[in-house]
Amino acid sequence: MNLIKIKEIKNFLLDMLYPRHIKCIFCGEELNEKSYNDTCEKCLKELPFITHSCLRCGGPIGESNDGVCLNCKANNFEFKLARSVFSYKDKIISVIHKFKYGGMKFLEEPLGNYLCEYFSTWDINPDIITSVPLNDNKLKRRKFNQSECMARILSNRNNIPYFNLCTKIVDNISQTELNFKERKENVKNVFRFNSEYKKEIKDKIVLIVDDVYTTGSTCNELSKIIIEAGAKEVFVITLAHGLGDNKI
Ligand SMILES: [Zn+2]
Ligand SMILES: [Zn+2]
Repeated sequence: MNLIKIKEIKNFLLDMLYPRHIKCIFCGEELNEKSYNDTCEKCLKELPFITHSCLRCGGPIGESNDGVCLNCKANNFEFKLARSVFSYKDKIISVIHKFKYGGMKFLEEPLGNYLCEYFSTWDINPDIITSVPLNDNKLKRRKFNQSECMARILSNRNNIPYFNLCTKIVDNISQTELNFKERKENVKNVFRFNSEYKKEIKDKIVLIVDDVYTTGSTCNELSKIIIEAGAKEVFVITLAHGLGDNKI
């Protein structure tokens, strides 16, 4: 059996499990014609959209705070602003896991739609879109870079060119179990700017797309090398934000 055939069968089986546009991507409930973006009405009401956020990193903060979160007070990030659609909790965690680790590439479309919808309300005008790169081993294992998938959707819908501006050159350990300080160290010098894009980014505004913002260390490191390579400023958009008001 050739590879294409195997892929077709795999997609067919995935369709049986999670039929596109028929079942809710969050709970598997049957959708009706009123359903929005492959999401049932119940889940749509329950999704943790961020409604009150840190002015700098876009993380969810308490209603009484009109400024920046503790993490932003303690750090001077290289990117100008970051924004996220959802808090990283509940149904958002499981759908991102299905997308990232479960090989369910079709989730790029509804999740990309949520990202596009947020982007359309954000008053920035990037010239170039890029995404947080994966190293080769991870890419081989996962078959696709979930952040790049969403970034390309954002790029196509808004007619903004997409470039893989950076490459991940070091297979560093996963950030998941590390604290803030360790994360910052762990991402140092793991990315390289792809010099063929040097001309394209000169004095340009770049938007980095990622799936989850945690402490900002990864996007900060990436922003640093993109700015060093000549970009004017960098913004960040992620599907979910994992940092609450009182965590550092
Ligand atoms: Zn649902
Ligand atoms: Zn913040």
